[in-house]
Amino acid sequence: MTLEIELLPILSDNYCFILREPEQGITGVVDPGTDGPVATRLDELGNGLDWILITHHHADHTGGNLALKERFGCRIAGPAAEAARVPGIDLELRHGDSFRLGAETATIIDTPGHTRGHISFHFPDSRALFCGDAMFVLGCGRLFEGDAAMMFASFARLLALDDETRVYCGHEYTASNARFALSVDAGNAELQARGREISELRAKDQPTVPSTIGRERATNPFARAATAAEFGRLRKLKDQF
Ligand code: ZN
Ligand code: FE
Repeated sequence: MTLEIELLPILSDNYCFILREPEQGITGVVDPGTDGPVATRLDELGNGLDWILITHHHADHTGGNLALKERFGCRIAGPAAEAARVPGIDLELRHGDSFRLGAETATIIDTPGHTRGHISFHFPDSRALFCGDAMFVLGCGRLFEGDAAMMFASFARLLALDDETRVYCGHEYTASNARFALSVDAGNAELQARGREISELRAKDQPTVPSTIGRERATNPFARAATAAEFGRLRKLKDQF
C-alpha cells in the first residue's frame, strides 16, 4: 500500500502535505507553516494527526507545530541539527535514519544549503520525496545559511533517486523559476514544453507540484549544473533575476 498524499496550499505560496498511511491508519503532515487551515482540513478528514514531519526550522514550515500538537496530541519529527529551533520537536532525525509512518518508512536525506540542518524525507515504496526548500520545481532554495557547494551536494543526493520519484517541495515558485530556467537554457526543448504546461496550470491556479526527479534532471537548471561553481553562478544570477 502506498501513501495517500494531499496537497494543501497555505500562507502566501507554501505547500503543506497531508499523508495518510492506509494500512495502519496513520496520518502525518509535512511542514505546517500555520495551524488554522491544516486543522480544518484534518477535522474534515476525521482521522486525527499522529505525526508532524519538519524539513527545516523556518517559521513558514513550523508555525503550526505547537497549536497542532496541542490540539491533536501528535508528535513532531525534524532535523536533529536544528532541534533547538523546531518548536515542539520530539524526534530528532539524522542522515540515513529511518522514519516510520505506520507501515511506510522514510529514509532521511541531509539536504543543507537553504538552512544548515535541512533534511528531506524519502518514502521509497511510495516513490515520494518531501524536500522542503532544498529542490523546487525548476529551481532551488535560497542559500540563507549554507553555500553553493553544500546545496550542489544536496542536489546530487536527491538526483540519485529514481526518475519516477515524485518531488513534493515546499513552495509554489514554479512560474518565476520557469522564466529564469528559460533565460539560461533557452534551447532545451523539454524545458520549453514544460514552460508552456506550467503557464497553463498557473493560469487555472492549479499546482505544479509534484514534479518528478526525472523531469527535474532534464529541465531544472540547478540539476543540470555540472559543478558546484556553475551551481553557484546560477544561484547568483537567480538572486538578481
Ligand atoms: Zn525556508
Ligand atoms: Fe519556505
